Amino acid sequence: MLRLFNLILLIVGTFMCAAAPSAAKDVQIDGLRFGVNGETTRFVLDISNETEPGIFLLADPYRVVIDLPEANWHANSAVQTTGLVEGYRHGLFAPGVYRIVLDLKEAATVKTAFSLPPRGQYGHRFVLDLEPATRSNFLAAVQSSKNERPVVTSASVPDVTAPRKRIAGKRIVVIDPGHGGPDPGNLGAIGVYEKVVVLEIARAIRDELNRTGRYEVHMTRDRDIFHPVRERFRIARRHRADLFISVHADSIANSKVSGASVYNLSETASDKEAGRLAARENKSDVIAGVNLDEADDDVSSILIDLAQRETMNFSAQYANILVQELARDVPMLGRSHRFANLGVLKAPDVPSILLEAGYLTNKTNARFINSDSGRKKIAQAVRRATDRYFQQMVALGR
Ligand SMILES: [Zn+2]
Repeated sequence: MLRLFNLILLIVGTFMCAAAPSAAKDVQIDGLRFGVNGETTRFVLDISNETEPGIFLLADPYRVVIDLPEANWHANSAVQTTGLVEGYRHGLFAPGVYRIVLDLKEAATVKTAFSLPPRGQYGHRFVLDLEPATRSNFLAAVQSSKNERPVVTSASVPDVTAPRKRIAGKRIVVIDPGHGGPDPGNLGAIGVYEKVVVLEIARAIRDELNRTGRYEVHMTRDRDIFHPVRERFRIARRHRADLFISVHADSIANSKVSGASVYNLSETASDKEAGRLAARENKSDVIAGVNLDEADDDVSSILIDLAQRETMNFSAQYANILVQELARDVPMLGRSHRFANLGVLKAPDVPSILLEAGYLTNKTNARFINSDSGRKKIAQAVRRATDRYFQQMVALGR
């Protein structure tokens, strides 16, 4: 009997030991606040565990990036900023990295950063004090904080050198839900962020394509996580994709504007609005706190390459067909096939398009693209277009 009791104790003890580390991983962010004391602006984070975040600065615009372990956000997101901080964003930046980005009103550097143990009504806290700085001091701090930047690799996706393992006869389609994590995209008239709306549309497209049995479909993300712009088409290249579809939802000051449009890559924009759209969509990396100086130019140099030209041709063919198929069932924007210098479409060897499914700033249009029936219509149009496009490819002997 005593033995059995000991055994139970042992089992309970083992279970508790095993449970402790996994509980420690589950960091919770419970609150945040900003305060001003003289020249200093203080940022306080209420957090479930003691953490040592990675902190680094980025210029143009001036930002402070705070990287925590993967965390759950339970704090009120509508906290007012003050002092040197103009705004903030947060979200899953990469597996294991939860990022908070502070936008600064002016150049400022970290005066001090420390953790506080629980006391009184407060639990663990992380405190960051900012003080005004000159631009040159700020730039020096950018350099010296460099080592704090996370090295993010995407080991889950096979390397581009891996031999193609296409399932017999299946074409590979990569669907890229835009934005995610600390880059929420635009917030439209129905109070749902673009990153949420486009993930649901992408899932509907994936399911619709999968049902045919003709495609091998991959998503660049299937949860609320960020990817740098270049990483998105690199995922497509690593999968040896035959087609890359980036899914977005548009916004504009005029709430009457509505409808879907399809974009191809071009160095010059087809019109002013297309140029503005490219500027907005290309800002994703800045919004999520990606350091752009280290962006390697593995794509810009091959832009005029012959392979790229052929890819652009195929991309335009697909966009053409997609516009026709969407128009059968989905509200369309005037001149719905457009061109812009969109970073996410720069894979030199994967035909790529960007679908702006509709306008989140138009209530009716936003409700349509965020509904089951609207998503279904969009997904079916993509499926019909994809079928037609690959039939043409077969006819061309591709
Ligand atoms: Zn977007």
